[in-house]
Amino acid sequence: MNKNAFLYDYDVEKVRADFPILQQEHHAGVPLVYLDNAASSQKPLPVIAALDDYYRRYNANVHRGIHKLSEEATAAYEDARLKVKRFINAGSKREVIFTRGTTESINLVAQTWGRANLGRGDVVVATMMEHHSNIVPWQILAAEKGFTIRYVPVLRDGTLDLRAYDRYLHEENVKLVTVMHTSNMLGTVNPVQAMAQQAHNAGAVVVVDGAQSTPHMPVDMQALNVDFFAFSGHKMCGPTGIGVLYGKRALLEAMPPWMGGGDMISRVTLEGSTWNELPYKFEAGTPIIAGAIGLGYAIDYLSAVGMEKIQAHEREIGAYALERLAEVPGVTVYGPEAGQKGAVAAFTLQGIHAHDVAQILDAEGVAVRAGHHCAMPLHDHFGIPATARASFYLYNTMAEVDALIAGLYKAKQAFAV
Ligand code: PLP
Repeated sequence: MNKNAFLYDYDVEKVRADFPILQQEHHAGVPLVYLDNAASSQKPLPVIAALDDYYRRYNANVHRGIHKLSEEATAAYEDARLKVKRFINAGSKREVIFTRGTTESINLVAQTWGRANLGRGDVVVATMMEHHSNIVPWQILAAEKGFTIRYVPVLRDGTLDLRAYDRYLHEENVKLVTVMHTSNMLGTVNPVQAMAQQAHNAGAVVVVDGAQSTPHMPVDMQALNVDFFAFSGHKMCGPTGIGVLYGKRALLEAMPPWMGGGDMISRVTLEGSTWNELPYKFEAGTPIIAGAIGLGYAIDYLSAVGMEKIQAHEREIGAYALERLAEVPGVTVYGPEAGQKGAVAAFTLQGIHAHDVAQILDAEGVAVRAGHHCAMPLHDHFGIPATARASFYLYNTMAEVDALIAGLYKAKQAFAV
């Protein structure tokens, strides 16, 4: 492959120029090669400027004041909701609930829909590849409510055992299916649209963890037809502390609130309270105003670059990374082949612990993550304690893949393996 030639119109250097953090040296004389995007992405100038502008010019609480600053803050906050609605093609703004992130979104579903609808004799189907944030909330609730959790196994090639999934749906009293769209370790893109259809046929509600898909590909709630969909702003060029729970309106209307407090009520008396309309019923207290506005600007930015283009760029980078990693003796990459996965490569390097790999790479300016990536059961399944993970985004280049590979050879040299 000619590593400088892209088959599509994508100016990665122009994109990089929008990310100030990428312009700096990681260590003296060593440029930063940021390959930890699955953990969190970097932020472009318009997002940084939007946060600055909010705090400098119109910082105020929303939905309450009748003064100009509050009105401007409210308009910007609600405009961000509209941007999210369009970005994921939700049916209505009321279906977009701002949360702190994917973790909080999933906990919200567990503590509201789950608490109201799951009990002894019921089954929740999750998968063995889930992030801890899509396992633990269900375990906590199961301990209290007495339902069972079944985990769809992962095959050696890093895809789900869909035959087992089908069996669970036919043989068990499955009330809810919860599955990640894209794996943060294997990169596997699960067939959530088909899985949702099967689950609905079996009468189950479907939750999708979109933390690793929404930043990297177009997602469409009407096409996927899932019931709940969760994602985080910080993985898609937005600020930390903001995320989204999309939910189908009829389900959200029927669900009890989770946290109680200001903004989520319609009327409070000393005897009891009634709830605000959607989405505010699920947004108790002062919301994450700056975060939501910043996420709106991140969505504007990603949309201007183009989600299809970003996806195509990452496909090229991901395929090149897998090709180059395969050349390094002792490297094992986990997950499906290129073309079937997101631009994520979790790998082991024989004879060197993942943390040592990451440390040597860091000295070379290459930032990767090492550990279990909040997917301990998946690492157990593959019989490995830890992997190093390189994950790519819209601003990464082929040359950065080369820097990763050069760093791995340095590690091999240092450990004489
Ligand atoms: N789900 C997946 C697949 C993830 O990769 C992550 C973050 O690493 C999460 C959930 C949790 O996201 P957050 O920590 O932003 O709530």
